[in-house]
Parts: sequence; structure tokens; C-alpha cells
Amino acid sequence: MRDDAALVLFSGGQDSATCLAWALDRFAHVETLGFDYGQRHRVELEVRATFRARLLREFPHWAARLGEDHVLALDALRAVSDTALTRDTEIAMQADGLPNTFVPGRNLIFVTFAAALAYRRGLRHLVAGMCETDYSGYPDCRDDTLKALQVAVNLGMERRFVLHTPLMRRDKAATWVLADRLGGAPLVEAVREDTHSCYLGDRAQRHDWGYGCGACPACDLRRRGWDAWRGAHA
Ligand code: ZN
Repeated sequence: MRDDAALVLFSGGQDSATCLAWALDRFAHVETLGFDYGQRHRVELEVRATFRARLLREFPHWAARLGEDHVLALDALRAVSDTALTRDTEIAMQADGLPNTFVPGRNLIFVTFAAALAYRRGLRHLVAGMCETDYSGYPDCRDDTLKALQVAVNLGMERRFVLHTPLMRRDKAATWVLADRLGGAPLVEAVREDTHSCYLGDRAQRHDWGYGCGACPACDLRRRGWDAWRGAHA
């Protein structure tokens, strides 16, 4: 196990892209992992490569640290779930207070597969962008869930993985602050232009804060975070 090496769960969104920069700032070797689970916003898988290429081009001190990219197909997740993230249905609130974009078990499965891959690759650190500060209320984004998962995968695989969630206590505005601190204006611009958050996969409409439909919960969070950050720096 390499203690100086990390695997970043990199979806192609703002949060995981910022986590990737966070990991490149700290670890000598960083690999990335994405999941193809039939998400409606499949375009996020396409911007992953664009964002990685931009890091290689514009951040030479990180380029030497950025290792392999992995994409795992998890078709089963789509098969078992009936959600607005995996089906062409309208995004709405459910009776239990969760939006119907919640994919049950998603992050539990993602972290478990990430650990299995890190096991094979000999990477001690897992980095993931979950956040319980400024989020849609998904229970598998909570700090307690992820701390319990760290214990579970370490027991189940007889390893000492460390699961990092650098955004857990940061709201979306603070996530922009972090990107700015890590990579300055060039990183802010890369995140703005070459990451994707919109649940509907809209890349046709360009806003100050990036691309998206402008109306779904993911766009709403991203826009409010950007406005709060820009407002504080105006
Ligand atoms: Zn949207």
C-alpha cells in the first residue's frame, strides 16, 4: 500500500473536481475513478477527460502526479433503482422529504467499489466529494455514513484505507474558495468551464457559473454557491 497515493472518486462535477485538485496538492500519486450507472447526465462522464486534460496542460506541477483514470460500469445500479437520475421522469420532492433524484445505495456502492479498486492498485487514500453542509439531503452524503463505511471496508478488506471528504463541512461558496486557494483563477476557470453538475445533462446553456438547465436542484445549488462566492469577492 502506498501511503502517498490516493484514488479520487471523480464524477466530473464541481465537487469531485475540486477534490481532485485537493488530492493533487497533497499526494505524490493520484488516480481517478468514475462510474457509469446509466445516469441521465451522462455528459458528466465526457467532461471528466476534458478536465483531466486541462489539469495536465495548465498545472505542470500536478501533471506528474496525475495517474490512471478508471471508469467502472455499474448497470445494476440503474436496474435496481427507479429515480429521476436514472429515469426520464420529472424531478420532484418525495413524501419522505428527499428529492426523487436520490439513488438508494449509490454512495455506499461507489465507496465500496473504490476501495476494491484501491486494494488492487495499492492506494491507501480514498477521496470523495460528499458534503452534508449544502446538499440535497441524501443520507449517504452524511459524515456518519461515510465514517461507518470507512470502518466497514477496512474490516471487510483487512486494510487501513483513509476516506477523506474535504468538502463535508464546506458549502458551495466555500468549495469555490478552496478551488481558488488550490489553483487560483486558472483552476476556478477550469472548474467553471469543464465540470458538469446539471442533472438533466444540459450543456447548451452557458451561465456565469457554468453549463446547465438553470432550474434543476443541482443547477440551483451551483448557481447559489457561485453567486455567494462572487458576491463576497465583488
Ligand atoms: Zn440543471
